[in-house]
Amino acid sequence: MTHTPPESAVVLFNGSDLSNWTSRDGGAPGWAVEDGVMAVVPRTGDVMTTERFTDHFLHLEFMTPDMPEATGQAKGNSGVFLQGRYEIQVLDSYGIAVPGMGDCGAIYNQFAPLVNACKPPLEWQSYDVIFRAPRLNDDSEIVENTRVTVLQNGLVILNNVILSGTTGANIGGGVGDPGPLLLQDHGNLVKFRNIWAVPLPLEGSDKY
Ligand code: MG
Repeated sequence: MTHTPPESAVVLFNGSDLSNWTSRDGGAPGWAVEDGVMAVVPRTGDVMTTERFTDHFLHLEFMTPDMPEATGQAKGNSGVFLQGRYEIQVLDSYGIAVPGMGDCGAIYNQFAPLVNACKPPLEWQSYDVIFRAPRLNDDSEIVENTRVTVLQNGLVILNNVILSGTTGANIGGGVGDPGPLLLQDHGNLVKFRNIWAVPLPLEGSDKY
């Protein structure tokens, strides 16, 4: 997968500051930026983009901290919330034989990753995501559920899964509305870099 954003990409983290980001309530984000990397500052809260998305492709890179004494959900936890509503888990799940619905690469509590594609902590990893937003009718009822395909470190870990709804800790609001990319402060020193998205047309190429 390419790590270089194409011309059509919206660069969400410019590598030098968080001018494209806010806290959940729209205030100033509390995370740190250094050497082209944005990092969780524990207990400053989640951060989200000012940009809003419907269907889109997302690329980002993340690194979990080395926490040898920690286990389970306390080990390098963060999260990538598509539209602020659907969490792809970020966790140190390196070496787990059969990852579950709470492990790295899972859609939290809905889908476990197909394979464990995790690298060890302190190594950069990538998510490449194809996101298809739910389709609603004129009565704002969902007629086609959200779909997500995810590659972790170039391996397919979620193959066009159909989500049953939003995941926990989502931003709320109408699921038919465009939403931000939100990154989770779960109290651990997770880092992110090279974050960009490409908005996708909502209809197929035969409808241009
Ligand atoms: Mg999480």
